[in-house]
Amino acid sequence: MSETFRALMVQKGDKAPIIEFNDLTENDLMEGDVTVAISHSTVNYKDGLALTGAAPVVRQWPLIPGIDFVGTVTKSDNADFAPGDQVVLNGWGVGEAHFGGYAERARVKGDWLVPLPDGITPAHAMAIGTAGYTAMLCVLALEKAGITPDKGDILVTGAAGGVGSVAIALLAKLGYRVVASTGRVSEEAYLKSLGAAEIIDRNELSSPGRPLGKERWAAAVDAVGSHTLANVLSQIKYDGVVAACGLAQGPDLPASVMPFILRGVTLKGVDSVMLPKERRIEAWNRLAKDLDFAKLDAMIVNASLDEVPALGQSIIEGKVRGRVVVTL
Ligand code: NDP
Repeated sequence: MSETFRALMVQKGDKAPIIEFNDLTENDLMEGDVTVAISHSTVNYKDGLALTGAAPVVRQWPLIPGIDFVGTVTKSDNADFAPGDQVVLNGWGVGEAHFGGYAERARVKGDWLVPLPDGITPAHAMAIGTAGYTAMLCVLALEKAGITPDKGDILVTGAAGGVGSVAIALLAKLGYRVVASTGRVSEEAYLKSLGAAEIIDRNELSSPGRPLGKERWAAAVDAVGSHTLANVLSQIKYDGVVAACGLAQGPDLPASVMPFILRGVTLKGVDSVMLPKERRIEAWNRLAKDLDFAKLDAMIVNASLDEVPALGQSIIEGKVRGRVVVTL
C-alpha cells in the first residue's frame, strides 16, 4: 500500500471554499517530473485569497493551495535534479491551478524549481517566500533603473506586510534611507528594527490626490496599488522609479500622466509568477547575499498546517505582520 501524507485541500463551496484536511498518496498528485518532500510552506496574500475565496485565484477544484514550498527531492526524471537536492518553488500557477505547498508531498515540473542557495535554510526560504522574493525583484528593478542610495529616500508602502517588511530590510542593508508607509503605526518599533528611518501613516497616500505633488521620493516599492500608487507616482522626484507589485488597496490606478511627462518618472511592473528561471536564480542568490537573516527572524510567525486557514483570513484582513513559516 502507498504511504499516505497529510494535505490541506479546498473544495468549491457556495459562498467560500470548503477547507478539508485529507490523507493522500502520491497517486493523488498531479503530473510532473520531480517529487518533493515538503518541509515548509508559507502564507502569502494570494494564499489568503485562495483559502477565503476573496478573489477567484483558484483555477482547479479541488486544490491543494500554497504558492510556495521548500523541500527535498525524493524522485526525479529531470536531468537538473536528483534525490536529496533541496529546492524552492514560487508561483508558476502552483497553489492556483496545480497542487501546491500545503501538503507533505508535491509533484511538479522540474523547470519550476530553483536550487536552494547555500546559506539559506529551508525555514528562511519560506520566511522569504514569494513575498520576499518579490521584494528582491522590486529592489533589482530600482537598481536596474539606476537608483543609488545618494539619490534620496525610498518609500515602501504596505510596509508591515510581507513584501514591505523584506523590502525595508533589503534596502536598508544596501544603504538606502527607507521611509515606511503603514496603517499600523503601532508597528513603528518593528519597522525601525528592520531598518526604516522614518514612518508615515498610509492615510497620507490612500485618498484621491493631486496629479503632481511635492517631489519626495527618489524611488518607491509599492505593494498597495490604487490611490496609494497614484499618489506615490505624483511625489516621485525627477527621473525616479516606482516598482509596482501589489494591489492591497485595489487593482485600479486612478493616476495622471503628469509624473511621466513632466518628471520622466518610470512605473516598472514586477511579476514573480511567470518570471523566467535565470532571473529567479539571480533574485534568490541576491537574497542569500543581501538579506540580513537576523532581521528576517524578527519577521517570522511560526505556524502549523492546522493554523493555515485562520492565517489566510488574517492576511486578507491586513492583520499578519511580516512572514509566516508553516512547518509541514
Ligand atoms: P501582506 O498582506 O503581507 O501585506 C500587504 C500590506 O498592505 C498589509 O500588511 C498592509 O500594510 C497594506 N494594506 C492592506 N490593506 C490595505 C489597504 N486597504 N490600503 C492600504 N494598504 C493596505 O501581503 P504581501 O506582502 O504578501 O503582498 C502584498 C501585495 O503584493 C499583495 O497585493 C499581493 O497580491 C502582491 N504580490 C504580488 C506579487 C507579484 O508577483 N506581483 C507577488 C507577491 C505579492 P500596513 O499594515 O503596513 O499598512
